Amino acid sequence: EAEKEIGFFFPPEDTLAVIKPHTERKEEILEEIQARGFSISHLKDTILSREMAEEFYKEHRDKPFFSQLVDYMCRGPCTMMVLTKENAVEEWRAAMGPTDPSEARRTAPGSLRARFAKDMLENGVHGSSNMEHAHQKIQFIFGDIGTESVIIDGAASPPLET
Ligand code: UDP
Repeated sequence: EAEKEIGFFFPPEDTLAVIKPHTERKEEILEEIQARGFSISHLKDTILSREMAEEFYKEHRDKPFFSQLVDYMCRGPCTMMVLTKENAVEEWRAAMGPTDPSEARRTAPGSLRARFAKDMLENGVHGSSNMEHAHQKIQFIFGDIGTESVIIDGAASPPLET
């Protein structure tokens, strides 16, 4: 009987989402995030230093696009957010769509990257790829805020600070 109930319950989960520098129509993206049922638990605009951008994307340090990715990520303010929802990591990845916006427009036309990305590098948004990264990057960007957010009312989001 208990198992049956657990089968329908996913605990709230946090993921780190970023609106990358020079992304246009940021307000629309913020509205879309809330319309898709994510609570924006924390939000701040930050200009990353080179060192921070390198640390943030350290998993990609051996990739050919690493230095242009780091240059880009510190070229202007990033909007950093903790998004909270059941299954947030996977759902935010799905909401973003594929890395390459032309692929996104083909395979996931409603996704954020299909609609808001400029190109492969300046693809609008970032999201953690798994829960371990989510916890690590939330800690890195926001410090010790705790990541076991509890949603009191699924529809409630704190007021946006920009
Ligand atoms: N990127 C790029 N060229 C590539 C692959 C990735 O410029 O060939 C950039 C792009 O901004 C991407 C980021 O590097 O969002 C991180 O790449 P990843 O493969 O982790 O994609 P994501 O998880 O962001 O979809």
